[in-house]
Amino acid sequence: MNEIIRNAQSSVAQASLDPQDWSEFRRLAHRMLDETIDGIANIRARPVWQPIPDDVRAAFKADVPREASDLADVYREFAEHVAPYATGNVHPGFMGWVHGGGTAIGMLAEMLAAGLNANLGGRDHMPIEVEGQIVAWMRRLFDFPESASGIFVTGTSMANLMAVLVARTSALGTLARQHGVGNDGALLAAYTSQAAHGCVSRAMDIAGLGTDALRKIDVDADHRIDVDALRAQIAVDREVGFKPFLVVASAGTVDIGAIDDLKAIAELCREEEIWFHVDGAFGALAIFSPELAPMLGGIELADSIALDFHKWGQVPYDAGFLLVRDGELHRQAFAQPAAYLRREARGLAAGAVWPCDLGPDLSRGFRALKTWFTLKTFGTDRLGAVIARSCALAKYLETRVLAEPRLELLAPVNLNMVCFRYRADDAVNREIVADVQESGVAAPSSTTLDGRFAIRAAIVNHRTDETDIDALVAAVLEFGARRTGGGLIEVEAPPLAAQ
Ligand SMILES: *Cc1c(COP(=O)(O)O)cnc(C)c1O
Repeated sequence: MNEIIRNAQSSVAQASLDPQDWSEFRRLAHRMLDETIDGIANIRARPVWQPIPDDVRAAFKADVPREASDLADVYREFAEHVAPYATGNVHPGFMGWVHGGGTAIGMLAEMLAAGLNANLGGRDHMPIEVEGQIVAWMRRLFDFPESASGIFVTGTSMANLMAVLVARTSALGTLARQHGVGNDGALLAAYTSQAAHGCVSRAMDIAGLGTDALRKIDVDADHRIDVDALRAQIAVDREVGFKPFLVVASAGTVDIGAIDDLKAIAELCREEEIWFHVDGAFGALAIFSPELAPMLGGIELADSIALDFHKWGQVPYDAGFLLVRDGELHRQAFAQPAAYLRREARGLAAGAVWPCDLGPDLSRGFRALKTWFTLKTFGTDRLGAVIARSCALAKYLETRVLAEPRLELLAPVNLNMVCFRYRADDAVNREIVADVQESGVAAPSSTTLDGRFAIRAAIVNHRTDETDIDALVAAVLEFGARRTGGGLIEVEAPPLAAQ
C-alpha cells in the first residue's frame, strides 16, 4: 500500500464516510422517514409557528465539532431543536408571506435527488434531460418558441437579476461583458411599477446599473402599472438622452396580487424595442388553471419570465425558474469559454449548451427532479385546481371581512391575497399580527397600503381550507378585542401550542 494512504488511514477508523453498519443506518433512516411523514400528515396538530426558546437558540452557538457524533444523537437534536421551530409554511394556517406548502411527494423527490448527488452544471447525463423536460413544458405552457431557453435557479430574485443581465447584454452588446457597462450603461433606464417586488430594484443595483436607473411608475387603484404614465416616462427619458431598455411587469404583485396589463405593456415594448420581462414569481403558475389563465393574457409575448415552483407550484424550496424567449441572447449573457468546460462530440463532456452557460452558477443541484415529480404525479390540472381554490378561499376571506363590522378591507382581492385590518390604529394592528402568530393558530403577515398598516393573508398552501380562514378571522377578532379592551380572549389553541 502506498505509504501516504497508510499514514492517512492510521488516524481514522475508516477511509470512506459511508456507514460502518448499513443495517443500523437503514433502521435509523427509516425512522427518520417515518417521522418526517408523520410530521407532514399530522401537521394540523402542531402550532403554525412558535417562538424559539432561548435554550434552543443557545444550543446552536456550539463549538466546531472536531469529534464524531452518533447519527442518532444528531438526529435527535434536529427533531427536538430544529423541526418544531421551522417557519410553519407546511401548516395550513400559514398565510404570511407568499410561501408554498411543499408536498410529501416533493420531499421524497428531494431525498432521491440527494441520493444521486447530481451536478447539473452541465455534461451528458439524464438529470440534465429532466431539467430540459421542464424547460420544454414551460415553453409550451407559455407559448414560447422551441428556441427559448430556461434554467432552474434559487428563486425569482435570482431569475429577475438574470433577466436584467440578459436585457443589459442585449442592449449594450456582449463587449460590455468585457469592458463593463461604461458610459452607455449609465444611460440605460428600466421601468417597473411602485408595486413591484423589491428584488427588481436590487437586481438593478447588483447588475451595476444602479437603482436610480429604475423608474418606478405609479399604479392605478387596482395596483396595476399605469401604462400611459409608463409610455410618458419612456418618452421623457428618450427626450433627454436616456436609453430605455427594460420593462419589468408584475404578474401577481407581492402586496395584493395585482397583474399588470401584460398585453398593453407587450405592445408598448414592441413599439419601443424594449426588453419585456415578467416577474411572475407566484402568479405565472396560474397558467395551470384554465379559469385563471386568461388573466395572464400577454405573458406569452414576454421576452423573459421569472417564476417560482416553490410558491404556488408547491415544490419544496428552492425552485425558481427563468424562461427566455431568445435562447441565444440568454447564452450570450452568461457563457464563458474555459478549457476545463470544453464540450466534446461524445462521452460525458458532450452537449452543446450546458446550464452553466445560462446563469452564474457552475455547480448546480437537481432542483428539476422535485419539480418533475410534482408536475407528473399531480398533473397541471390538479395543481391548477389547487391554485384556483386558494383564490376562492381569498374570496371567502373577503366575504368574512366585509360581513364583520370590526374589520375593514384595505384592497381589492386579486388572486390569493387579502389585505384587511381590525378597526383600530396601526399600532394595535401590528400587535394583533404578532399575537396571532405567537398563538400558533395562524400566521398572517403585514404590509403597508396607502400609508396604512394592513394585515395580509396570502393563501398559497394547498392544505389551507375554510376552517383555517375562520380560525384566522376569529383570532384577529379576539386579539383585536383584547388589545382594544373590548373583551376576553377565547382563541382555542391547537394541542401543542401550550408546550
Ligand atoms: C416571492 C417573490 C419574489 C422573490 O422570489 P424569491 O423566490 O423569494 O427569490 C419576487 N417577486 C414576487 C412578485 C414575489 O412574490
